Amino acid sequence: MPADPDCLFCKIVAESIPSTLVHEDDVVIAFRDIAPRAPTHILVIPREHIGSVADLTEEHGPMLGRLFAATAEIARREGIAEAGYRIVSNVGRWGGQTVDHLHLHLLGGRPLQWPPG
Ligand code: 5GP
Ligand code: ZN
Repeated sequence: MPADPDCLFCKIVAESIPSTLVHEDDVVIAFRDIAPRAPTHILVIPREHIGSVADLTEEHGPMLGRLFAATAEIARREGIAEAGYRIVSNVGRWGGQTVDHLHLHLLGGRPLQWPPG
């Protein structure tokens, strides 16, 4: 989908809003969450505007491979891979989604509770 001019994460992709980037390639970018919930809290997003997991189709398979592989690589680089970490994608209001552009939360650096609240 084309960039949504009202979408916060499209603005971060376009660099019209600043962010602390930790990864950038032709398909995916990753940046530190502005309100971290763990010592490592990074958002990994496709450059393309996709609302959420609910909007995915089979055609998004290659992009999703890049999204998850980049997330795992960032986790290794952040030094949290050995202890373990969590990848979360909130969907919709009850799922806790506040930004309607598909993103993976990469959380780590402390033991994480299960189930989440
Ligand atoms: P959601 O609630 O949709 O699953 O996740 C959205 C995340 O984006 C939240 O964890 C929130 O802290 C983060 N966030 C909101 N606005 C900004 C911003 O301007 N910059 C950055 N880096 N993160 C943001
Ligand atoms: Zn967007």
